[in-house]
Amino acid sequence: MTTASPSIFTRIIAREIPADIVFENDSIIAFKDIAPQAPVHLLVVPKTEEYANVSELAEGDPALLAEVVAVARQLAAEYSTGEYRLVFNSGSSAGQTVFHVHAHVLSGPMTEGSLGF
Ligand code: 5GP
Repeated sequence: MTTASPSIFTRIIAREIPADIVFENDSIIAFKDIAPQAPVHLLVVPKTEEYANVSELAEGDPALLAEVVAVARQLAAEYSTGEYRLVFNSGSSAGQTVFHVHAHVLSGPMTEGSLGF
C-alpha cells in the first residue's frame, strides 16, 4: 500500500522513477503498468495527487475525470482495438495500492484470470 506523498505516480511525473510514458499533457499522464494484467494495460493518471480515488475526483473535478475517460478511449484506439475495460480500484480491500487516482485501461483478448482483475 502506498500512502506516502509524493506518490509513486508523482515521482513518475517528475521523472524520478522511469516509466514507459504513452501520453502526457498539462493535466494528465499515461504510462504502461509495470505488472500488466492484460495484453494492453495502461494507467491514466491526473497529474494532481489531490484526489485519492475516482469518487473524490468526480466530486472535486468532474471535467478532469471526463478528460481521463477521453484519454483512455484515445489510447485504447491507439494501442489496441478501441475496445477496453476502464477500472478504478477504490480502497485497499478493492485492490487499490496507490492512493493517487488512476484509471486502468485494459484491452486485448482477455483471459479468464484477467476478468477477475
Ligand atoms: P491500484 O492497485 O492502486 O489500482 O493500481 C496501481 C497500479 O500501479 C498497479 O497495477 C501496479 O502494477 C502499478 N504500479 C505500481 N508501481 C508502479 C511503477 O513504479 N511503475 C508503473 N509503471 N506501474 C506501477
